[in-house]
Amino acid sequence: MREYLKFYIDGQWVDPVTPKTAEVVNPATEAVSGTISLGSPADVDKAVVAARRAFETYSQTSVKERLDLLETIQAEYLRREEELGMAVLEEMGAPRGLACGFHTLLGKGHLGTAIEVLREFKFEEQRGPTMILREPIGVCGLITPWNWPMNQTCVKIFPALATGCTMILKPPQLAPYSAQILAEILHTAGVPAGVFNMVQGQGSVIGTALSTHPDVDMISFTGSEPVGVQIQKDAADTVKRVGLELGGKSAWIVLDDASLAANVAGATSGMMGNSGQTCSAGSRLLVPNARMDEALAAAKEACEAVTVGDPLGNVAMGPVVSKSQYNIIQDYIQKGLDEGATLVAGGLGRPEGLDKGFYCRPTVFKGTNQMVIAREEIFGPVLVIIGYDDLDDAVAIANDSNFGLGGYVSGEDAETCRAVSRRMRTGAIWINGGFDFHAAFGGYKRSGNGREWGEEGFREYLEHKSVVGW
Ligand code: NAD
Repeated sequence: MREYLKFYIDGQWVDPVTPKTAEVVNPATEAVSGTISLGSPADVDKAVVAARRAFETYSQTSVKERLDLLETIQAEYLRREEELGMAVLEEMGAPRGLACGFHTLLGKGHLGTAIEVLREFKFEEQRGPTMILREPIGVCGLITPWNWPMNQTCVKIFPALATGCTMILKPPQLAPYSAQILAEILHTAGVPAGVFNMVQGQGSVIGTALSTHPDVDMISFTGSEPVGVQIQKDAADTVKRVGLELGGKSAWIVLDDASLAANVAGATSGMMGNSGQTCSAGSRLLVPNARMDEALAAAKEACEAVTVGDPLGNVAMGPVVSKSQYNIIQDYIQKGLDEGATLVAGGLGRPEGLDKGFYCRPTVFKGTNQMVIAREEIFGPVLVIIGYDDLDDAVAIANDSNFGLGGYVSGEDAETCRAVSRRMRTGAIWINGGFDFHAAFGGYKRSGNGREWGEEGFREYLEHKSVVGW
């Protein structure tokens, strides 16, 4: 049993101002796996005072000093990587291979990328008579979700540290363990007191206290659209900068010349990774109508090959994060059936043999883009396959969405892939797979307004000062 009852404020582990606790449930067993403290606005006040004070000196540190600090953190992160992975496994149910693999790799990747960007970043730039100074924005409130805990946390903390900001992290209540270990890593690595602070608790309490706080300069939020909208409203009175990284319903277009079966299989098993709880998941798979039968056969085979079970075992998919997430996903599967989508694989209920834990069945529908299951973010292992007639039709379907986070294009002809990418209204597109820590990540439309990852991720945390007559 884990017991994380203290917050990290001003370089120390401290008790909450008013003691209040909550249990954390292991999604694989439904048993309580630990207890955390739930903070109050008074804890946020203490953390903001510490961060404001620390900003005076930390904002003046040199690039070399911050590079040294990040490299020390990197060594400590590597030392505790396995522990971080096991915390992710326990808090949100990711299978061991994924939790101790891609989950922690993403955190490590953002740290390494922050170091690389910091080495080259131009904090000062002369343009004619004017010197442009890029300065840290100040005290940042970082609010993160539970679905890729290390990714979301590290992609905020390390650029904020690299640019000279100070911060208060509010981790997700459902998945609070890995953030606690990360705070220990930062402490051991010698992050100066007050630069990094962490208060656990409820979004409506701690998140709101940060968004409305007059001494917080910026909020970086990753999470759902309704909460993002609320944060913008809460932050409006104090004219904060608000970076929003919200949901998605990303289209994966398999072009006519692509190897259809292999791409459909890849897209299907990719969708089930992390139990479908990925904001940029390719949850709408667009295939040529003329080859629909072939696509459905490949999707069915790939979906039924996904192994589901205890995250400690050798499985591809674990449970979803919570009972309520399980229920939401079941409701969407029922909606798909009710609105006449064709069930290709999976369906309602738990996979056979699993009667405890929040396990869903990997599910594939053939549907239309007008169906609810194609319009709303399900955030579970549910893929919708949609047919298109020609390229214009494919692009129109892909863009017919309130969201605009990710996009995927599979095809042999590079020029066609590029042309389709130009026409898709999303913040990131992956052509034939590929991965790049320096590629900015963020949304068009209701997927948000921020950009994280790489150099663009630094700009979120910087003010721009023009000094004319330098
Ligand atoms: P959520 O919006 O419910 O919660 C996210 C965080 O906000 C949590 O820490 C929560 O406690 C906090 N919060 C809740 N109410 C708040 C309030 N009123 N004020 C301030 N903070 C508040 O989202 P979730 O369920 O944790 O995560 C899933 C969502 O996150 C999905 O929509 C997913 O697409 C999105 N997401 C987006 C990205 C991206 O980079 N665009 C990445 C991962 C997840």
